[in-house]
Amino acid sequence: MINLKEFNYGELERWVRQQGWKKFRAKQIAKWLYNKKAGSYDEMTDLSKEIRKYLKENTELNALELVTYQQSKEDGSIKFLWKLKDGHTVESVFIPERGHNTLCVSTQVGCAVGCTFCFTTRDGLIRNLTTAEIIDQYIQSQRFVGFEPEKRISNVVYMGMGEPLANYENVKKSVQILTDDRMLGLSNRKITISSSGIIHQIRKMYEDQSFPQVRLAVSLNAADQETRARIMPISETNTLEDLMKTLNSLPIKTGYRIMLEYVLIKDLNDSPEDAHRLARLIGKNKKRYKVNLIPFNPYPGSPFERPDEKRVNQFHKILWQYNIGAFVRWSKGKDISAACGQLRKKEMEFHIKVL
Ligand code: SAH
Ligand code: SF4
Repeated sequence: MINLKEFNYGELERWVRQQGWKKFRAKQIAKWLYNKKAGSYDEMTDLSKEIRKYLKENTELNALELVTYQQSKEDGSIKFLWKLKDGHTVESVFIPERGHNTLCVSTQVGCAVGCTFCFTTRDGLIRNLTTAEIIDQYIQSQRFVGFEPEKRISNVVYMGMGEPLANYENVKKSVQILTDDRMLGLSNRKITISSSGIIHQIRKMYEDQSFPQVRLAVSLNAADQETRARIMPISETNTLEDLMKTLNSLPIKTGYRIMLEYVLIKDLNDSPEDAHRLARLIGKNKKRYKVNLIPFNPYPGSPFERPDEKRVNQFHKILWQYNIGAFVRWSKGKDISAACGQLRKKEMEFHIKVL
């Protein structure tokens, strides 16, 4: 059965015409799906009975089912665990911040990239999420937290499970749906796609006229090729040098600085020398970047440790001395382990115990 959230606006219109319905039905359907975020076809009261019946019998409305959620007592963030139709699970995190709310979405079940510090990739890639599965994370999270203006999810970051640019077409379509004023209507500058640095896919995204331009984040995680290749196998083929050359030449819009993400791992990439090296790597392109320092989030059995606060602050300060915009992202909802893949793991263990 098809899910109408697979379609961008043009495709939705085409589909509506194929059913022999007038074009304005697309506008009505989009209103119910995206503006009202309807949870059932019965709510769609201005559609004729026949159309509602047809939709009910031939299309599916929800791509996900909420399995469980945890809310952080520290900062109010909510981690959702969703079940897909085939039984796999993915997660999203709702992050309330001063003045706005952000949702972190997943794009794949698992991940093939294999970064050694990342829990998501432990079992490799299971499958790509569909467009509807990506979009439904937004819609169902919003429905869950409520529709009061202060609850509105204005920002979306593609930083959950998976490598977004390895699921290019579905991620692209989900961004079209998020940013289309006739659909979810979010501002382009409030959407961030985070990639581990697949160079040809980054280039493709910037050359692709139908990919709405949004913010780019790249997981650097080390400032020298050798260390980076040690923790990110992708760096063997997408070298740090080539990656930086590409990033330095991307036609980014003003105000759309590229975010360089840097997971700080104890005694691996967290020394003052590493900070100086990172500053030199950025060199004269300071205006093009901002740096996001993420102290490593340990998980049961993780091979690395988190540096202490002093060490993190030292690293941070060195970047500021070079006038590089950097900030530390202490992970949200530490008490609910809002880092990649952990809730899913707990849930899986739970199922195994029950069986
Ligand atoms: N695959 C994409 C997006 C998802 S990962 C990417 O790699 O960019 C989002 C961010 O979480 C990345 O910057 C990644 O380096 C970081 N990350 C992964 N595991 C982590 C952990 N255990 N602790 C802290 N950050 C982690
Ligand atoms: Fe995949 Fe990102 Fe995890 Fe690397 S950090 S394994 S790219 S999800």
